[in-house]
Amino acid sequence: MTVPFAAKLPVFEPGTVWLAGAGPGDPGLLTLLAAKALAEADAIVHDALVGDGILDMANPGAELIDLGKRAGRPSPKQEEINARLVELARRGLRVLRLKGGDPFVFGRGGEECLALAEARIPFRVVPGVTSGIGGLACAGIPVTHRGFGTTATFVTGHDKAGGLPADLDWDVLARMPGALVFYMALGTMEAIAERLVAAGKPAMTPIAIVSSASTEAQSVIETNLAHCARDVVRLQAKRPAIIVVGEVVRLRGWIGEWQQTVGHQFSKTAVSA
Ligand code: SAH
Repeated sequence: MTVPFAAKLPVFEPGTVWLAGAGPGDPGLLTLLAAKALAEADAIVHDALVGDGILDMANPGAELIDLGKRAGRPSPKQEEINARLVELARRGLRVLRLKGGDPFVFGRGGEECLALAEARIPFRVVPGVTSGIGGLACAGIPVTHRGFGTTATFVTGHDKAGGLPADLDWDVLARMPGALVFYMALGTMEAIAERLVAAGKPAMTPIAIVSSASTEAQSVIETNLAHCARDVVRLQAKRPAIIVVGEVVRLRGWIGEWQQTVGHQFSKTAVSA
């Protein structure tokens, strides 16, 4: 693929690492820098969230290294990933570390940068479209809207141990005047809803669960705090899913029908009964 404006983009030097976000899935949402890195990399270290449509754009000569979690196989330890990146760069390769969404949003990109800096490997961070903003957009949900609050809060639904993070302040979250966007939260949806309602968030607050945002497999479940736990099971919510709690979800009714964003044209919607 020829990358538009390629001449104006920085040179991808051998022996360096580009840590890039691949966006939520639609190759059209890649940045020019990420597309250039895909076309020129000698080694591409990616995780499970980076779809085939994007990897199809890779330099045919590149070594593809899948370090994502796959069925039956645990994801490699972060130290192993860091060591791999350092080793590939020291071999003089152009190394693309490609992550779903944005590398710094719940993506451990910061840890990899620290390891590269410590090993004195030059690197470039290429931000990407995060699922909690762009993924919601592809489902017809603006993460902020003037009529519906003044904040957008990004929260991880699980910690290193796999449970709900212990340090979340549910009273504060319940009072935030805007959307709450939960990553990695399908498994803890029930606990999240219980805690928010117990902290005073109205039980009828709308929720959208957007699965495989921006891809042909995109699907959306519209529900609310009172019914989301039941609907996740009944409507078989699929991973990866981004979950937004807040009044902005109501805008889907007006925006969804008219927008042509990739994903939407395929998107199936299930609405809570
Ligand atoms: N760095 C990523 C987030 C990694 S954490 C980003 O910026 O988007 C993994 C979580 O991201 C998933 O559990 C899910 O909540 C969300 N996610 C990533 N891609 C998604 C997609 N295409 N559709 C829905 N959710 C997605």
